[in-house]
Amino acid sequence: MRSRTFTIILVLMLTMIMAGSFSVSYAEDGFGTDDDEFGPDTEDKKISSVVLSRSSYVFSGNVKTPKVTVYNQNGNVLSSKYYDTQYSKGRINAGKYKVYVTGKNGYAGKIVARFTIKPQQLKKSRVYLSKKKYVYNGKVKKPVVSVENAKGITLKKAGKYSVSYASGRKNVGKYKVIIKGKNNYKGSVTKYFKINPKGTYIKSLSSNKNTITVKWKKQSTRMSKSHITGYQIKYSDDSSMCDYSIKTVKGYSKTSKQISGLSWDERYYVKIRTYKTVNGVKYYSTWSSKKSVSTKEKPITNPVYIAPYSGERYHYNRNCRGLRNARYIEKISLSDAKSYGYTLCGYER
Ligand SMILES: [Zn+2]
Repeated sequence: MRSRTFTIILVLMLTMIMAGSFSVSYAEDGFGTDDDEFGPDTEDKKISSVVLSRSSYVFSGNVKTPKVTVYNQNGNVLSSKYYDTQYSKGRINAGKYKVYVTGKNGYAGKIVARFTIKPQQLKKSRVYLSKKKYVYNGKVKKPVVSVENAKGITLKKAGKYSVSYASGRKNVGKYKVIIKGKNNYKGSVTKYFKINPKGTYIKSLSSNKNTITVKWKKQSTRMSKSHITGYQIKYSDDSSMCDYSIKTVKGYSKTSKQISGLSWDERYYVKIRTYKTVNGVKYYSTWSSKKSVSTKEKPITNPVYIAPYSGERYHYNRNCRGLRNARYIEKISLSDAKSYGYTLCGYER
């Protein structure tokens, strides 16, 4: 039996040599078995597939090591004593990595499994500007960008992100800063900062009747392009100025404003700021410090005198004998006295 098998193999080998397709490994496998048939056992002892616990990660700064599950040709999971696992070096940065699984202890075969580490979205980090609001002073503004990752660690710019600033950045307006991820970071974050107009202050406050006049320092700059659009006056009869009204004065060269129709004999608190309109958006300076003024007492036309607690007559004469015993005397207008039901004193008819 044995010699016959040998002869058949020998004939086969010679045929193959002549055909130029001889395979040593194939023939040796054939020789290596003691069985009558070609070794089906040996062919089974081969790693057939490898599955990684994960094939894709996102960069986090940590080493990534996916677990391997190795199957033989029958689809059974192999114990780790039948193979060696070797990972590509590094496995921290974004990129493509390999896992080599090589059979041992009777198992043949070598399989390469692959996994990737993808860059992290830059927007997952905290991106901020050193300053978000500036006051116009004729100089170009350039806030510094800082990026803190999810762990609160500040990232150095080199190799991680690039920064591009909008052009200009000198005049009043809103400016864009684009921060773009590199290498282990992808995507971009857009930040804005503002340049607001320079403020002004109240030079004087005065009142006449129930009208107040506000005068302020004109705010202009050397560049006509950066002239402010106008002023806003905030006023209130409450010193905390929680409840207030606003008057807008257009024109940077204006320096005063009358506010009329106010309450008589009332203290008013006033502040001022400048504004500039750029592309339909108003940019404001900070408010000036507060100043206050009182409106005048309401003048009484056709005054008469009454004793509100002790009489029902009105008197033209403050020294009328009809008022001699009154504890309290009030001066009101004749029309008011009549509307309250007072009638002229008998001594003065
Ligand atoms: Zn009288």
